[in-house]
Amino acid sequence: MKLFRSTKYRFYLTTGLLLIFFCGGYIQLALFFNRLAERFENRRTAFDNISTDLMPQPNVTRGGAKNTFLQGISTDADLLRRAQPWLFLSFSAALTMLFFILYIVSRKIITPIMQMSKVVMQVKSGNDQARFESVEKDEIAEFGFAFNEILDTINEHRHRLETQMKESSTEVLQTNEELILEIVERKQAEEDAEEALREAEAANQAKSTFLANMSHELRTPLNAILGYAQILQRETYVNEHQRDGLNIIQKSGQHLLMLLNDILDLSKIEVGRMEIQPTEFHLEYFLNNIVDIFRLRSEQKMIRFNCAFASDLPTAIRGDEIRLRQVLINLLGNAVKFTEKGFVAFKAIISPRQDVKYTMKNSGADVCIRFQIQDTGIGIAPEDLKTIFEPFQQVTSKREHTQGTGLGLAISKKLIEMMGGSLEVESDVSHGSLFIADVAFSIADSPATAPKTQTHFITGYTCPRRNVLIADDNPENRSVLRYLLTPLKFKVVEACNGQEAVEKMLTLHPDIILMDMVMPIADGFQAVRKIRSYESRMRQSPSSATLFPAHTPIIAITAKAFINDKQKCFDAGCDDFIPKPVNVDELLEKLQKLLSLEWLYKDTQSGTDESENTVSSPEPPDAEDLKTLIQLANVGDIRSIRNFTAKLEQSKQHLRPFAAQLNMLAQQFQIDKIRKLLNYYKGD
Ligand code: ADP
Repeated sequence: MKLFRSTKYRFYLTTGLLLIFFCGGYIQLALFFNRLAERFENRRTAFDNISTDLMPQPNVTRGGAKNTFLQGISTDADLLRRAQPWLFLSFSAALTMLFFILYIVSRKIITPIMQMSKVVMQVKSGNDQARFESVEKDEIAEFGFAFNEILDTINEHRHRLETQMKESSTEVLQTNEELILEIVERKQAEEDAEEALREAEAANQAKSTFLANMSHELRTPLNAILGYAQILQRETYVNEHQRDGLNIIQKSGQHLLMLLNDILDLSKIEVGRMEIQPTEFHLEYFLNNIVDIFRLRSEQKMIRFNCAFASDLPTAIRGDEIRLRQVLINLLGNAVKFTEKGFVAFKAIISPRQDVKYTMKNSGADVCIRFQIQDTGIGIAPEDLKTIFEPFQQVTSKREHTQGTGLGLAISKKLIEMMGGSLEVESDVSHGSLFIADVAFSIADSPATAPKTQTHFITGYTCPRRNVLIADDNPENRSVLRYLLTPLKFKVVEACNGQEAVEKMLTLHPDIILMDMVMPIADGFQAVRKIRSYESRMRQSPSSATLFPAHTPIIAITAKAFINDKQKCFDAGCDDFIPKPVNVDELLEKLQKLLSLEWLYKDTQSGTDESENTVSSPEPPDAEDLKTLIQLANVGDIRSIRNFTAKLEQSKQHLRPFAAQLNMLAQQFQIDKIRKLLNYYKGD
């Protein structure tokens, strides 16, 4: 049956059937004619026989009808007989015609269709050159040629498409190659970046280690320098000249320490290890303390120092007191440093800024305080204002001031930001600068602790003698502490390593231990841990509990004061931490707290707060002496000024600070400044 699905065979089948029906029809027709002729013949014969039987004598009349009848039949039969060749002829003609038509149909329609179908099949099987061919010029041929044209167009498009495809695939390949190259490069870059990161981390680690070591190495000798400077400054037998020298040693040491601390602070900030440690503190006392420092410095420079603190400021706040002091001291220090005439103003008000409130909400703070530091100094040029908060920027270095590291503002800004605030500056060359720090704080519930004890004139304490164990491998550092504490009636025992410290602790039971944390044989950490574990064992055995102190306070005194060092000391079991170089006041304060001491002061009978005098402006001589000094200054007699000052100092102890101030200027032959200072005291 598959055969007849083809048009060709269907055509042949139809043609065959048509021919069969056609021939069959003709044959039927011929047979019909033949039969008809035979019937006529039979009828004539029958009629002949009947007429012969019925009429032996032919009657002319009847014979005439009969003849006519017979003649008619014969004529019909003849006609039929004669029609047969014509029938055959017409059949042949019709057949021929039919063949002819079929031939034409086959040639004109079927063959071209077949050819076209062949061409389609060839094209389909991939021969794009196969084409319809014909010598005819009829519609089907034209259709075939149009089909050829379509094939040509398709071919052309295909070629074009192939070319484009080739081109684009070349492009794609190229792009692919580029992509692969880029991926490889990126991977390489990533690996490089990772490598660089590793190197940077290693470098950072190396930097941190270096800084920690450097800090340790510098703090150790600084501890001895500053420690002795502080001890000697307390001595009464030191003359003014020596005191000046000690002042210079202390100032230089402090400067070195400040540089060291600034570098460490910046590194801590850079590695994100700087932490804000909030405590509750008394705001007014805090501000007054700062004012005291700068009032004195301003007076020495003969510039006015104005301060104004709003009455609606909270009494006690919670914030990082140490870091806030560091920032304000830096800003005020700069203001005084860069101002030669006019004033420095320090203000604290409730900040009018609204946007800080958002930060405050997040940090849980409830008040934003604005600290304003204004000066009439040299100012900062607009182009320098952009870089002023970047590390190591000293825009005035080209001018007259070279002191400083250029780190203060960078650190201050970072610290203020860490406190959830902002630090901004407005400045005008030769008119001065205004630094504004907005800082968020939470208000402390209870008023902060009372003002700190002034330790400068401490001579001892009221309770029985206390034993202090000093553990330090550096003999100079031990001697600093020994010289400091022995005059204050402490009994000092020394150990030069951690192991010795533990042994002495177990045998001597000191009241407090000042422990250096970096020592040979056993370091401070090991020693503290051993002591703490021993104490806890003793606490568990009731028999020995009474013999052994339950908890001996230990203060870590270490030159290792970089990231985490403080925490490590607390983790080991220390009760407090003092970085080297030891600040005497800080040490005495901590001793007082941990041993519950009540200090005895040099001048206790007055009962007044002597210390206030030591930080406020020096008391000037009386009008008469002041007049003499002004006269000497007007004629520029430095030698006489120094002699006069020395006499004043010897005769009136309370004039010592004033004398020191004047002496310092006299030594530097700063006659103009001496005149200004004296006029300032006179009230002009
Ligand atoms: P430095 O230790 O040098 O003072 P800072 O970071 O505190 O470092 O200050 C950077 C620079 O900014 C200073 O060297 C100075 O040039 C400029 N500067 C800071 N404060 C003032 C000011 N109040 N008046 C003029 N210039 C200032």
